[in-house]
Amino acid sequence: MRIFDPHIHMTSRTTDDYQRMAEAGVRAVVEPAFWLGQPRTNPGSFTDYFDSIIGWEPFRASQFGIRHHATIALNPKEANDPRCRPVLDLLPRYLAKDGVVAVGEIGYDSMTPAEDEVFAAQLALALDHDLPALVHTPHRDKARGTLRSLDVVKESGIDPGRVALDHLNEVTVEPARDAGVWMGFSIYPDTKMSPDRMVEILRKYGTERVLVNSAADWGRSDPLLTLRTGEAMLAGGFSADDVDQVLWRNPVAFYAQSGRLDLSDAAGTEATFAGNSILRGGS
Ligand SMILES: [Zn+2]
Repeated sequence: MRIFDPHIHMTSRTTDDYQRMAEAGVRAVVEPAFWLGQPRTNPGSFTDYFDSIIGWEPFRASQFGIRHHATIALNPKEANDPRCRPVLDLLPRYLAKDGVVAVGEIGYDSMTPAEDEVFAAQLALALDHDLPALVHTPHRDKARGTLRSLDVVKESGIDPGRVALDHLNEVTVEPARDAGVWMGFSIYPDTKMSPDRMVEILRKYGTERVLVNSAADWGRSDPLLTLRTGEAMLAGGFSADDVDQVLWRNPVAFYAQSGRLDLSDAAGTEATFAGNSILRGGS
């Protein structure tokens, strides 16, 4: 099974996770810029973080034969802090970089007026830079947040085929499908979406335009839940080709729209991994 995790926060994960992911068949990941838990108080903190997810993390991933790309944005939660607003002016410089394959995560956290402005401004940046957009749907009041996100996407004029709406569930999948956006699902250990629920959604809605990710970060999460979902699909009667479409070809197709997806050394991950002798730490 070859796996592309289209949404995972490797900056919060250990090197052991990279090793387990490589052994499980993960050959490529996309790391969206997000909220780090500790609120940032100035744009310089973002600069260092963005540099880290387009520089240091791709290097760390490469030691395990995993291709690493990033998406860059001011996340919805910190969009509410006026001290972070100047980050919007830094984004064009980052959105021009090779390893950046989308604008994200953007969208809503608490659906405030500040979030409205920053969401719309960043969809405009996606259009300007000819990049897809990764849109996070809020954890609270998800149904309303999803509908409102779809309205903002529609108003922006971006092609819905270049937008992924993430963290969907049984309630929010239908409006996303009807709007023509890509449908992202984050599989978590004990909240939101499980592998078995995901299989039921795939049975009902099919495998087209579906993205499955682990969204693993600093909270309770598991970077191997992509693999577990593939296994649950096979156990549930889906073919190996269906699994390959959901866990590999779909995320490749979505992010390839950036024109920057480089998977040149992702194909031979197992061989690279088996022969890799540089898996030591950074000390
Ligand atoms: Zn995330």
